[in-house]
Amino acid sequence: MSAQIQLQNVSHTYQNGFKALHSINLDIAAGEFLVVIGLSGSGKSTLMRTVNRLIQPNEGRILFEGRDVTSVRGDELRKHRASIGMIFQHFNLIGRHSVVDNVLYGALGGMSTTSAILGRFTTEQRDLAMSLLGRVGIADKAANRADALSGGQQQRVAIARALMQQPRLVLADEPVASLDPATAHSVMDHLEAINKEFGTTVICNLHFLSLVRRYATRVVALRAGELVFDGKPTDITEEWFRTIYGTEAEMM
Ligand code: ADP
Ligand code: MG
Repeated sequence: MSAQIQLQNVSHTYQNGFKALHSINLDIAAGEFLVVIGLSGSGKSTLMRTVNRLIQPNEGRILFEGRDVTSVRGDELRKHRASIGMIFQHFNLIGRHSVVDNVLYGALGGMSTTSAILGRFTTEQRDLAMSLLGRVGIADKAANRADALSGGQQQRVAIARALMQQPRLVLADEPVASLDPATAHSVMDHLEAINKEFGTTVICNLHFLSLVRRYATRVVALRAGELVFDGKPTDITEEWFRTIYGTEAEMM
């Protein structure tokens, strides 16, 4: 069976001329928990954003479930993005809106424009939003303003919002970088549960080696926009880490 996601010679140069990705080749199978590591500025976010086409790479091809999505536009692009959930470092919730509304917004990409504009959610969608909040352990906060929640709770709302899309792939861009270690584990545990129970593919950018070892089924490393490692988390030795990342490895 072919990979769910295929990046073929993907390069990206930003408008200012900076080349952030250098001919990346990567096949990702459905159900993998792929962790991407690399120093700040190595291209992790850029790589992730080419997958859901927030960025259109200027060279190479991206295939999703066998379909070439490299340059899809309009309705096709909307559909592509709607099938992929995304989780950000800073949660990206609408702070003054309720927790449950934030979860419902996950469904907008899959709705007709009129229903989406009017915020006309069905009973089924509302039930699903509540059950997803229950799943991440914060159903009792549904009516609260999102900005009244702790960082860990807000990230769990963001996970519920991503699940609202019933995604086949979740992209998590440094989802725990703003959280303390205990909270980080709780958020990662939720991502792991989604991956294991629903078989949803997860691509997650991470900074901490301890988390990489604990959660990844596969690791790729970027350095200055190049793929410099692809293997099992157990194949990453401390020594390798220091060789690749130098003294900054201590921070990871
Ligand atoms: P990471 O997520 O690993 O920190 P990024 O993918 O955000 O790295 O960035 C990779 C490189 O591309 C960095 O050097 C960054 O400064 C540069 N970059 C990111 N976004 C832009 C942009 N919009 N315009 C120009 N350069 C950018
Ligand atoms: Mg980044």
